Amino acid sequence: MKVLLVEDEKKISDFVVKGLKEQGYVVELAEDGNDGFLHASTQSYDVVVLDIMLPGRDGLSILKSLRKAGNTVPVILVTARGELDERLEGLNLGADDYLTKPFFLDELVARIQALHRRSSGQSLSLMQIEDLTVNLSTREVSRGGESIDLTTREFNLLEYLMRSPGRVLTRTQILEHVWGYDFDPSTNVVDVCIQRLRKKIDAGHDIPLIETVRGAGYRMRKA
Ligand code: CA
Repeated sequence: MKVLLVEDEKKISDFVVKGLKEQGYVVELAEDGNDGFLHASTQSYDVVVLDIMLPGRDGLSILKSLRKAGNTVPVILVTARGELDERLEGLNLGADDYLTKPFFLDELVARIQALHRRSSGQSLSLMQIEDLTVNLSTREVSRGGESIDLTTREFNLLEYLMRSPGRVLTRTQILEHVWGYDFDPSTNVVDVCIQRLRKKIDAGHDIPLIETVRGAGYRMRKA
């Protein structure tokens, strides 16, 4: 899960970034409206958390431009108490949800998860390929009925692969989604993590689920 946070108040962004990262999200922060719009319009995110009052472009203008350009990324608007008009305008402009400051991290996480489920068309939080099942709510993974322990990073990598079975994902795509864009692209963390994941998911099973596509990247076997 990759989240863009557009927020100029350092006190809020510090706690949101730290909290979401602890829960296994990849978080990118934009501290003003211009940078926020640049990120949101040129990179792909699962959810954008957008403050309204920002230096540079304000949140509503960013939202308006994104929707006008056909960008359907799920957006949660963050409003201050009393910004009722802005909140209504935001919903009219195509915001998917809103939160009023101050808010609890759990509340934000619940909204993000609900939106993400809605946008990825999953009614259930259970993903399955062959005999491998991944429960996104409980973060439990099992294959052939045997439960598998994964680190947060391994889980996020597996979830990303499972979202598009049969599709080749390049190392760069994986790195951006699972580690974040500011990671050094020459690192071999992706390959190392794939190896560890394979040991846990595929070792001892007849059908390997994680496939290497030579010179291109990795993909999840299509059931
Ligand atoms: Ca603000």
